[in-house]
Amino acid sequence: MRLAAFDMDGTLLSGRLVFALARGLGVEDKVKSIQDGSLPGHEKTKQIAALFAVVSKKEVESAVESIPLAKNCEQAIAALQAQGFKTGIISDSYTAAAGVVARRLNMDFVAANDLEFEGGVATGRVKMPMGWEKIGCKCHLSVCKRFHLEKYAAEFGIGIKDTVAVGDTRSDICMVRRAGTGIAFMPKDGDIARATPNVVRTPDMMQVVTCTLRRI
Ligand SMILES: [Zn+2]
Repeated sequence: MRLAAFDMDGTLLSGRLVFALARGLGVEDKVKSIQDGSLPGHEKTKQIAALFAVVSKKEVESAVESIPLAKNCEQAIAALQAQGFKTGIISDSYTAAAGVVARRLNMDFVAANDLEFEGGVATGRVKMPMGWEKIGCKCHLSVCKRFHLEKYAAEFGIGIKDTVAVGDTRSDICMVRRAGTGIAFMPKDGDIARATPNVVRTPDMMQVVTCTLRRI
């Protein structure tokens, strides 16, 4: 058995959930300035979640549904599943959104931040799974992707050599480096492109499958 872990925003989806949400609320500039700031990743996640305090769970779900999947995403995930891969999402977005995408793609696991809802409306608080503090990862993100890659591989009894991790930004580096096969898909920064020899610059998820199956 093998395992393939995908980042969500900019990888499975050809857009970013926080921007789709922020657009609806007119807080795009605020989100952008938090993201471009120098705070550790998990602090940024907290501040951004606070901006979404008025958003309903339904709005989060329809925001994610409004973002198109990457080209050939459904075929690519189905092709990996047919080859015996467990598939899932490891995202620093929200479980309310990642769950929608995972269900649509019949995936096996989701790790993401839990935006807290009360009566169907976001409170502005967020539960962050972290993980870097347990393994000494330097990412300091709200979701340490390496920690969760290792966690799900262990849960399914799959060796780390038999894992694939796919992402598009520097927040994916720790899992892309740790996986048996790390793939930078449509890299948005130089750091992720330099983190692995496997770089896909064609906006077609089937290229990720080709890249994966060539290496096993
Ligand atoms: Zn990490």
